Amino acid sequence: MLKEHRVQGELQLTKRIVITDWEIEVDYSKTKEYYSNHKIDDDCTCTSCMNYRFNCKQFSNELLEFFEGLGIDPSKEGEFMDFGVSKEGSVIYMGFYHLVGRILDGPDYVDDKWEELNLFKINEFEFGFSSLELRCVPDDFPDPVIQLEFKAILPWLLEVPRE
Ligand SMILES: [Zn+2]
Repeated sequence: MLKEHRVQGELQLTKRIVITDWEIEVDYSKTKEYYSNHKIDDDCTCTSCMNYRFNCKQFSNELLEFFEGLGIDPSKEGEFMDFGVSKEGSVIYMGFYHLVGRILDGPDYVDDKWEELNLFKINEFEFGFSSLELRCVPDDFPDPVIQLEFKAILPWLLEVPRE
């Protein structure tokens, strides 16, 4: 479901997307523009975040298409929090990205409800959306904001050990 309309001669692409229990409206153009202009140097450089970004280079096409469909560059801006190591020795990440848009239908709060939500799954990722409690939104991020929440179990790919 795609809606396109022109604003002042520029192509502004707004998408309506239905994912499990959510219906969201994404300003693809503004989101894409933000991620394109955002400098990765401004983001956290701890080894855990570096490992997450290293994993981004090996994401499947399906996963990359999902992020790209929302206008998000998965290596940028987001919060990638390290929640320890799984039984198999991979790192449990939870975190979020921001995108420009609105939740039209579905849950707008995830924090203590994660396990109860009808999450969207791709490979080793689970995704949900929220907008009620936004965290760490960059000052220059355009309104309105949706948070794309995720949990992922990813291998440690760096040569340096996990701290
Ligand atoms: Zn970090």
